[in-house]
Amino acid sequence: MVTIQHALRAATAQLRAVSETARLDAELLLAHTLGWSRAKVVAERDHPLTPEQQARFAALVARRAEREPVAYLIGRREFFGLELQVDRRVLIPRPETEVLVELAIAEARRYGDAPITIADIGVGSGAIAIALAMHLPRATLYGVDLSAGALEVAAANIARYHLQDRITLLEGDLLAPLPGPVDLIVSNPPYTILNEIDEGVYRHEPHLALDGGPDGLDCYRRLIAAAPAYLTPKGAILLEIGAWQAAAVVHLLHLALPQAEVGVQQDLAGRDRVVWARNLDVIR
Ligand code: GLN
Repeated sequence: MVTIQHALRAATAQLRAVSETARLDAELLLAHTLGWSRAKVVAERDHPLTPEQQARFAALVARRAEREPVAYLIGRREFFGLELQVDRRVLIPRPETEVLVELAIAEARRYGDAPITIADIGVGSGAIAIALAMHLPRATLYGVDLSAGALEVAAANIARYHLQDRITLLEGDLLAPLPGPVDLIVSNPPYTILNEIDEGVYRHEPHLALDGGPDGLDCYRRLIAAAPAYLTPKGAILLEIGAWQAAAVVHLLHLALPQAEVGVQQDLAGRDRVVWARNLDVIR
């Protein structure tokens, strides 16, 4: 008889070579297989598995052993206290991106009770836009993406949180689909150099959401060059970056918005993670 305990032990051993969180991965995959919470799986270690459950679990573990992310295998990921549907059409939301959300919330609160418009460029799963909408009841949001598939995932997540009236999805390239200037532009654009990224990420996550070109800066160049025309006079732009890109992105922002105040924010690991620029209300 194969119990939960046996199955978890074998799967953990199998996943150790590909995952730093092998035990956790195994628990999440088994919970998904059984339709249980992870807490229940951990508590009921002597519960027997049927041959059919063992086979379904083994299939998931085999895919994880090929470095497929757990979030895709179970179809969801937690971000900023939200549970989001994810699949191969979208980048999996990363915890580092919560820094961008926190800064954007702080920036939006400068507007007090006044309404504010926000654009999330490269909306992907909707993680950033939904987190902002949930915390900023006076905000109206746009979510732009080049990927029709990503917009389908975002739409499902937006519907799940009943935010259809607050977040408008637009298909297209960077700022071009926006109807006019906004108070806040936020973006986690593709910024990696593809041949330098983690193998599991490279093999399974959408390159459209990751590939920042030869130096990782392609999207920032185009986005920042276009930003002045899409920002209100006191508007701000907040961009997630790779830890090595702060100086280059700060430079691009100074060039495009010479009057703006510019800053860099670190993530919890102390790495540069967000670059921001705030327009000063000058006559242009
Ligand atoms: N942080 C992601 C990674 O390193 C990249 C996200 C992005 O390119 N926007 O895998």
